[in-house]
Amino acid sequence: DQTVQLTLKERLKEIFGFSQFRGEQEAIIHNILTGKNTFVIMPTGAGKSLCYQLPAIASEGTAIVISPLIALMKNQVDQLNAFGINAQFLNSTLSKAEITKVKKDTLNGTLKLLYIAPESLTKEDNLDFLKKAVISFVAIDEAHCISEWGHDFRPEYRKIRGIVDNIGHHSGRMGLPVIALTATATPKVQQDIQKNLNMEDADVYKTSFNRKNLYYEIKPKVDAKKGLIKYIKQHKGKSGIVYCLSRKTAEDIAELLRVNDVKALPYHAGLDPQTRMNNQDAFLNEDVDVVCATIAFGMGIDKPDVRFVIHYDAPKSLEGYYQETGRAGRDGLEGNCIMFYSYDDILKLEKFNKDKPVTERDNAKHLLSEMVSYANLGVCRRRQLLGYFGDYLDKDCGFCDNCLKPTPKFKAQHEIILALQT
Ligand code: ADP
Ligand code: MG
Repeated sequence: DQTVQLTLKERLKEIFGFSQFRGEQEAIIHNILTGKNTFVIMPTGAGKSLCYQLPAIASEGTAIVISPLIALMKNQVDQLNAFGINAQFLNSTLSKAEITKVKKDTLNGTLKLLYIAPESLTKEDNLDFLKKAVISFVAIDEAHCISEWGHDFRPEYRKIRGIVDNIGHHSGRMGLPVIALTATATPKVQQDIQKNLNMEDADVYKTSFNRKNLYYEIKPKVDAKKGLIKYIKQHKGKSGIVYCLSRKTAEDIAELLRVNDVKALPYHAGLDPQTRMNNQDAFLNEDVDVVCATIAFGMGIDKPDVRFVIHYDAPKSLEGYYQETGRAGRDGLEGNCIMFYSYDDILKLEKFNKDKPVTERDNAKHLLSEMVSYANLGVCRRRQLLGYFGDYLDKDCGFCDNCLKPTPKFKAQHEIILALQT
């Protein structure tokens, strides 16, 4: 076992250039290498990708990595290729020749990681060739997409189990090991994922959701434009993200900031891909300080020194809020998370929910109500937020608006809670 550990550590250094595993990475990698089902719940930025990339490289055959977004797949494939690892993706953007190459490399065993979206996985001819390949294990990234109770439900994700069984059966490996990974899962979502994947037996690795360096504050949304400009000017030259509900608001706020001498650009799915990429690069390269964005911005973006994340409009769920605020202070230094909150915004979101299919409406309403109670309560924000993810703090954090500036309402609520606890 000692030699395996050494080799893993050596590989970590040689391939990725890191001298140490982070948190539970090594234990997770061991678990998957011994063929056990593994469930990883760690916050964004914790280093989940490595938990399947390294064992894939260390194993014989090809690991299948299921990922929901082409952009996410491409990022990882590019990065692995730059490290000299044969990783490729299979999706609708490939030419016939490229598809042939992917299949050939999978079948001759030189491909270490095959990235694929669940929609492509269900295609008959893809299934056929995977049945003939040697598959080491299956990784399911962003596994919360499996659960209807989560914030990013993708119906195709619920078909994964059947397909994995099918591939395993034909490739002679019944019970292919599965590693599922996500950054947000309430206890209810976690249960749902494990049940759907038929992996109630999995070893679960869940690290704390507490981001100690993040400061949480909610401001009433009155004169919010003035408040926003003032705040950003006080943090001049620092990197920040302003999340807005609509594309139009993102554009308007970026413009407003520009006329107020702040270097800002918009980012949303309505911009053409080239502009989107340019704006993202301008932010990463610090040609601009602020990106005003819809939730289309952020997944897979790894900028360590974002100093503030402002929700100009209220988010739809605490899952979204946690992920978006999580992009602040990834280097462990200052990270301010400010939300402008008004009941009008909630009414707007409720109206959107009415347009959703009936099946999604109740859940959307529930997610929103959790957000509303978070915004309204006067108690420690961090305790409330972490508690929602099943991560319980035993005392108030002392580092959120309610802890630092308790209002009379807060004091009253606090006393009631203390009374209930004793
Ligand atoms: P997640 O998927 O959990 O959000 P990523 O896998 O994208 O996180 O990793 C976030 C960052 O952490 C990446 O830049 C990655 O290279 C880095 N990282 C991962 N593992 C280590 C490690 N052991 N040492 C140093 N950096 C690491
Ligand atoms: Mg990830």
